[in-house]
Amino acid sequence: MKILVCVKQVPSTNEVRLDPVTKTIIRDGRQAVINPFDTYAIEEAVRLKEKHGGTVCAISMGIPATERLLRDAMARGVDQSILLTDRAFAGADTLATSYALSLGAKQVGDFDLIICGKMAVDGDTAQIGPELSAQLGIPYVTDVCEILESSEEKLRCKKITDHGFAEVEIKLPALITVSKDINMPRLPSISGVRFSLQAPFRVYTAAEVGADVNRCGLSGSPTQVVKSFTPDRTHQATHLNGTTSENADAVLKIFEEVR
Ligand SMILES: Cc1cc2nc3c(=O)[nH]c(=O)nc-3n(C[C@H](O)[C@H](O)[C@H](O)COP(=O)(O)OP(=O)(O)OC[C@H]3O[C@@H](n4cnc5c(N)ncnc54)[C@H](O)[C@@H]3O)c2cc1C
Repeated sequence: MKILVCVKQVPSTNEVRLDPVTKTIIRDGRQAVINPFDTYAIEEAVRLKEKHGGTVCAISMGIPATERLLRDAMARGVDQSILLTDRAFAGADTLATSYALSLGAKQVGDFDLIICGKMAVDGDTAQIGPELSAQLGIPYVTDVCEILESSEEKLRCKKITDHGFAEVEIKLPALITVSKDINMPRLPSISGVRFSLQAPFRVYTAAEVGADVNRCGLSGSPTQVVKSFTPDRTHQATHLNGTTSENADAVLKIFEEVR
């Protein structure tokens, strides 16, 4: 089975800095980690490889410093990595990001399965998985919490829905996004770390993947951030220490005041 796993670099801190002019996230790579959901995607890809044979390739669109995180993925069982990095990709919204990733995926050739995290903890849209599958013309299942059956031809997945769970069968090639319930990611092994230092790692520019620059980065992004700001914390907490009925009256009074 040939598996592609999408790995995004995200800030390891809550103090995300925004460029006041472009309104985009300032990414310097110093405090970056693998998006937590993607560590589950990596683990599931490696487990499927261990079961069926084949290879796992990690792919990321990001700044050059993302190499460190892709090497970390290779220390956890990924065989090779692709980094799409170019100034032309900077400022991408989800449409431009999924376009770039689809071109990267085509460099890998005939893959059977793409695994993404359920969402990125910084962008938070959960759009990349479905958009990437649309760009590649393959079916997808989101929020997968268990792979019940897998073969070279299809997967039977348990997915989280708004009302509980659903079982979905999907023909390969396909894309899934995974939740944190799916497994317990392994830590890098010593032999894995040694392997990762010289593992196959390929960097592509926009031109090298044949990208139309008008569909990349800020110029290829129909989403425009008009304003981004940290909300002021102006609200004060009020503690109600009365009896239940006194507290209920007090809450009612507060509601009436703010109505
Ligand atoms: C107008 C605009 C400008 C922006 N400018 C920038 C910018 O300058 N720099 C910037 O970094 N971001 C920028 N962003 C954010 C950027 O669009 C998103 O970070 C990106 O498209 C992914 O969306 P998301 O974070 O919501 O991912 P989600 O859809 O929540 O992620 C789901 C999964 O998709 C995969 N995935 C997501 N992104 C990547 C990736 N890059 N590589 C590999 N796999 C991935 C991961 O497996 C992840 O778990 C901008 C967004 C907008 C709207």
